[in-house]
This record gives sequence, structure tokens and C-alpha cells, in this order.
Amino acid sequence: MNNLKNLRGTVDLLPDQLIKWQNVEKILMDQLSRASIKEIRTPILEMTELFIRGIGEGTDVVSKEMYTFVDRGKRSCTLRPEGTASVARALLQNGLSSNPFQKLWYMGPMFRYERPQAGRQRQFHQLGVEFIGYESVRSDVEIIALAWDILGKLGIKELNLEINTLGDVNDRFNFQKSFLKWLEINKNSLDSDSQNRMNKNPLRILDSKNIQTKKALENAPKLFNFLSEKSHKRYSELKKQLEVLKIPFVENFNLVRGLDYYTHTAFEITSGALGSQATVCGGGRYDDLIKQMGGPSTPAIGFAIGLERLILLAGEELEVPRNTDIYIVNQGLIAESLAMDLSRKLRNYDLLVELDLSGASFSKQFKKANRLKSKSIIVIGDNEAANKEFIIRLFDKSTQENKEEVISFENDIKLGKWLNKYLLAQ
Ligand code: ATP
Ligand code: MG
Repeated sequence: MNNLKNLRGTVDLLPDQLIKWQNVEKILMDQLSRASIKEIRTPILEMTELFIRGIGEGTDVVSKEMYTFVDRGKRSCTLRPEGTASVARALLQNGLSSNPFQKLWYMGPMFRYERPQAGRQRQFHQLGVEFIGYESVRSDVEIIALAWDILGKLGIKELNLEINTLGDVNDRFNFQKSFLKWLEINKNSLDSDSQNRMNKNPLRILDSKNIQTKKALENAPKLFNFLSEKSHKRYSELKKQLEVLKIPFVENFNLVRGLDYYTHTAFEITSGALGSQATVCGGGRYDDLIKQMGGPSTPAIGFAIGLERLILLAGEELEVPRNTDIYIVNQGLIAESLAMDLSRKLRNYDLLVELDLSGASFSKQFKKANRLKSKSIIVIGDNEAANKEFIIRLFDKSTQENKEEVISFENDIKLGKWLNKYLLAQ
């Protein structure tokens, strides 16, 4: 055994684990396509500048979590820590103005240098959805409902939706002035992390998990009280519409989210079943991001779901592999080549076909077919090969008997009929 290992915080997903991943991904993709949301794929590697400008220098992600390196052309590159900035860049670069309203999703690996623990890795995966160009409260409601329904469709229990509003840039500016004054006076009541954030990203202090800081913040000015009339109205409307849809929510005035680009609606969905890394979905409105990146003023809202946490939460029924439909037992030179040919033909019927390549005894091959719980077995030995035919056998659950048929290799019609009648009807 050599001592090569994967990097800390990364994992290999092995075939048995991937059954659940693939089942979850399929449900996700079905839900997204039913909601008429289109996929976008952007590079995993981007210019570092994109994230500095897009996410914000004072954020945890940019200041201490990015995988950044200089390439051979002396360009500073970063493995993407999230997807929104890349989507915004890709749209700008590919002519956003020709299609200003877009509903998009992406799925793939993200990279953040964090302390690995259950539900927290350095390479992890996200599903993200972005509604670009949409300004109305109804788009906020649609996106929250979509996230809620996706998690519901996967049978995830103990879901809690928390919402907040961050107001617009002006609201935040006014709040920040007064909050900074308060921070100066109360500096000594804060933990050192929060003290460090005072100059870089004071809003993030609201999200502190430190008990002492949390207690002190109870007396701090509240962003909510600095919202303009318009922002207030928008937020009330959001709550009203969520109530109409009967999506339960809790207001959390300290929910600020980790990235700088958010405005108005911010939300998180947690699950009581997850333990300490409880947030499975985080999202919010980012009306200023695209403009900040040099594009036209474009309202937008999105969310990202952490797939590792989703997999931890999704039910065990999604871990069950699809059964083999047909297992082909074969032995002998001609039989083996006929079996190969037949397996190719059968896969065109959308059947899961496993061709035994072991050359082992019939009894061993039968044992393997039974172990795989194959719905049916095809047998081709020397005798069958000489007659250019094969035996197909299936245990019929309704009659509790084996149904068996001998079919000639040339007789596709008979094969089709048999598959339709017995196998595909199962
Ligand atoms: P957290 O507070 O858990 O660090 P975050 O606010 O940094 O989350 P976002 O940037 O909003 O997370 O990402 C959206 C989702 O992606 C999170 O809710 C979580 O499910 C998932 N996620 C984020 N970072 C990681 C990670 N290092 N490992 C696994 N999943 C992650
Ligand atoms: Mg984080």
C-alpha cells in the first residue's frame, strides 16, 4: 500500500454511495425542469478577481476560505467557492441584454478551506437556482416555495424556514452608521472575531454564534428600524404571500448571510435532523451584484442547497439500487459471443442487463444472478448456441411460478412480445 491519500476535506464517492446521490439528483432535476428552470454550467476555475468583487473582500469566504493560486501564466486563479458570481459573469459575458429574464440552475463542486466535520467539507457540492431579471415579491415567493418543495419532495423532515429583510443599499448605509457608533462604544463586550469584523464587514457581526456577543447585540440598533417605507412594504407583502401558500416561516432579524451581495429578502432553511451544521439551504436577493460587476442594473434572487447535507437528510429508500432486469448466464465460445450481441440488443429496450463475463460454471453464474435479485435470467450454453436460440426465465410474482420461453436469436418479434408481456409488465 502506498501512502497517497486524498486531501483533507475531500471525499471519494464510491458506487454504493452514489446510488443515493444519483436518485437525489434525478428528483432535483425533475423538479427543476417541471418549474421550467434551465441548466447553466460555468467553469470551476475562475479569475480570483471575480470572487473578490462579487462576494466581497470582508467576507469569510474571500478572506480565509478560498483556494487561490497563481497559474503558469502568472494569473491569479480561484477554485469557485460558490456559484452566483460565476453565473452573473457568464450572463454578462454572453449577452444578458438579449435575454434579461432567466431562470437558471447549476449543480457541482465548490471549494472552501474550512475545518472539515460532518456536513462540512473543503470540496462540497451545491445545487443553486438563480432568477435573473426578476424584481417582484412574487419572484421571491416563487423561489422560496421552490426550495421548500424540493426539500419536501425528498421527504426531508423537521424543516424550518427563516426569513429576514436586509433592505436596500440606502437602508443598510443608514443602519451601518448607527451600528458602527454602537460597536465603538460596546467593543469590549464583543468576541475578538467580531471585533476584527468591525472595520471589514460589520453586518456579519449580527450573525455571530458567540454567546457573549449575541447577548450584547440584544441592545444594539436593529436594521429593521432603518428600513424605508418601501422596503417595509415589500417585506410585509412577502410574509403575506408566504402565508397564502401556507409555507410556515420564522422571522430572524439576525439572519444576514455570509456574502456581501444580498439585498431585501434573505432566507435559510434548516433541518432539526442535521445537528450542528443545520443549514441545508441559503438564499436571498442580490439586486446590486450584476451592476457592481459592471453590467446593467439587474434585480435577481437565488438560493443554494448543500448536497452533502441533503444526502444526509434524504430517506433510506433512495439508497436502494435499481434491480437488474436480465442477467445473462453464458458459457462456451459461440455462446459468449451470442450473449454479447444479445446484451446490446436488450439494452435498447431500456432494460438493465448484466452480462456475466466470468466464464465460471453455470451454477456460480446462477448464484450471482440470484444475489443481484435479477428479475429474469437468460441462459445460453453450447446447446442453445448450436440451435441459435436462448432460454429466458422469469419468476412471475402473481402466479408464483417460473415462466420460461425458448427464443430464436432471429426472432425479434417473439422476444419483444415476451418482454412486453412478462418483464416490462412487472
Ligand atoms: P454555513 O453557515 O453552514 O457555513 P454558508 O452560509 O457558508 O453556510 P452558503 O454560502 O449560503 O453557506 O451555501 C449554501 C449551502 O451550501 C449551505 O447552506 C450548506 O448547506 C452548503 N455548504 C456551505 N459550505 C459548505 C461546506 N463547507 N461543506 C458542505 N456544505 C456546505
Ligand atoms: Mg460558511
